[in-house]
Amino acid sequence: MPRSVLIIDAMSHRRIQMRAKLDTTAYPVDLAESLAEGLTLIRKEAPEVVILAHDLPGLRLRQFCKLMRSTPSTQGTTLVVAVQRENQSARVSALVDGAHDVIEMSAESADLRARMRSFMRLQQGSGLYLARSGAHIASGLSEPTVDFAPKTVACFVTGTLSAPMSAPDPADSGIEIRRVAAHVARREPHPDADVFVLWETQQTDEARETLAALLTHPVSQHSRILFVTDCAATGASPLDLGAHDQVPTTVSATELVLRIQRLARRRRDADRERRATTDLERKAYVDGLTGLNNRTAMEEYLARTDRALAEEPRALAVLIADIDHFKSINDNHGHSAGDMVLSRIAQIMKSSLRDGDFIARYGGEEFLIVLPDVRPGQARAVASRLRDAVAGGATAIENGTHVRATISIGIALRSRSERVSTMDLRRAADTALYEAKRNGRNRIEIAQAQSAQHGIPVASARAAF
Ligand code: GH3
Ligand code: MG
Ligand code: MG
Repeated sequence: MPRSVLIIDAMSHRRIQMRAKLDTTAYPVDLAESLAEGLTLIRKEAPEVVILAHDLPGLRLRQFCKLMRSTPSTQGTTLVVAVQRENQSARVSALVDGAHDVIEMSAESADLRARMRSFMRLQQGSGLYLARSGAHIASGLSEPTVDFAPKTVACFVTGTLSAPMSAPDPADSGIEIRRVAAHVARREPHPDADVFVLWETQQTDEARETLAALLTHPVSQHSRILFVTDCAATGASPLDLGAHDQVPTTVSATELVLRIQRLARRRRDADRERRATTDLERKAYVDGLTGLNNRTAMEEYLARTDRALAEEPRALAVLIADIDHFKSINDNHGHSAGDMVLSRIAQIMKSSLRDGDFIARYGGEEFLIVLPDVRPGQARAVASRLRDAVAGGATAIENGTHVRATISIGIALRSRSERVSTMDLRRAADTALYEAKRNGRNRIEIAQAQSAQHGIPVASARAAF
C-alpha cells in the first residue's frame, strides 16, 4: 500500500492551503471535508499520516485516537492535529487526547515537510521492512504507561545569547530539571539526562552545534532531543538534523512537560529494546569489533528493502564510506591501534545518523549506510556531517598518541520514480567512492545511478564537492 497523507478539515481553503504546503511529489495527499468522509478514506487508503483540524465538526479526538489504535490497519497511522496559531489550550488537549503531534495551520511549508519526513522515518523504525501494523515507534500521549516509570531528568541547555526560557516548574511537573550552559553540554553532557531541551535564538547557531555534539557524544547519544525554535524555515530543519521533536518558542510549560515525558518514555522503550537483544542475535547480526550491523544483517536488510521498494517505491540513498589510508595507520601504530581507530570511527558515524537510517560494517574498513526518503541535498548534508565528524576527532591509542583519520564517501541515490535496486545503488556508490579516493580522499562524490531496466551503464560518477 503506497504511503499517503490525509487532511480532514471542513474549511476548504485551509485544506487546499495545507495540501499546497506538503510535498505532494513524495506522497499523495488526499482531502476530506468531514469526519465521515475522512473515516471512509482512512479505511480505503490506510494513510500513513492523518492531519485533522482541531475544530472539525463532530470530532471527539480521544475516541477517534482510540478507534485508530484499536484497528489493526490504522494502528501505525500518525495522527496530527492542526490548530490555529498560538492556541495553547487546543495544543495541550490534542496531545493529552492522544494525538502524536500538533501543528499550526499557518506553519511554514519547510517546517511541515520536515515534520512529515520525521513521522515517516519514525514509522519505519530501524528499517523499511517493519510491517505497517506491527512495531510502531511513534506513539501518542495516551499510550499505556509502563508499571514502573523512573523520574524523568530533563536538561535545559542555555546558549550564551539565549532568550529566557518559560521552563516548567519542576515542583509541579514531576520532572527533574537541570540547567547547563551550551558549551558545557557539548563537552560534558549530563549522563542522566533522558531529554535535552535546546532553545534556539535568532542570533546564533549554537543550538544546532549543540544538537550535533549531543547526537555524537557517547554519553548523550541515546538521549532524546527537543528543539525549541522559531527559525524552522531558515536552513536545515532540526528534525532532519536528528532532533527527536520540535516546538515553537511560544510553547506553554504544560505542553513542554507533556512532550518531555513522552520523549523520556520513548527513550526508556528504546533502551529496553536494546537490552532485550539477545547475545545470540548479537553474534549473528552484530560486528564484534565495531558493534555495527555485520554483513549478514546488511544483506538481509537490503533484500528486505528491495522487496519493500517493489511494493512501494520511495527515494533512497546508499552511501559507502571507507577510511583513508588505513593501511598506513596499521603500519605506523600497529594493528590493535588500527582496531581502536576503526571502532571509534564506527561509533562516530553511528551516532551521527538518525533513527530509521541504517549502517553496517561492509568490509574491513568500509561502511554501508542507507538513508530512506532523502533528497540529494539531504544525503549530501548527511555525508558531509559524517565526514566532518570523523575528521574533527582523534583516537587516543594505548601509548597516549592521538591518531587522526579521515573517510571518503561515495553516494548513490534513487528517486521515488526510478526503478533501481539496492545492488545497483551499491555498485554506483562504490564507483563514486573510487572517484572520491582518486580525487584526493576526505571527499564526497555523488554517483548518477541509472535504471538497469533502460540498459544504461549503472554508474558514472561526477564530482559533487
Ligand atoms: P585507501 O585510502 O585507498 O582506502 O587506502 P587504505 O590503506 O585504507 O586501503 P587498503 O585497501 O590498501 O587497506 C585497507 C587496510 O585495512 C588493510 C587491512 O589490513 C586493514 N584492515 C581491514 N580490516 C581491519 C581490521 O579489522 N582491523 C585493522 N586493524 N585493520 C584492518
Ligand atoms: Mg581505505
Ligand atoms: Mg577499503
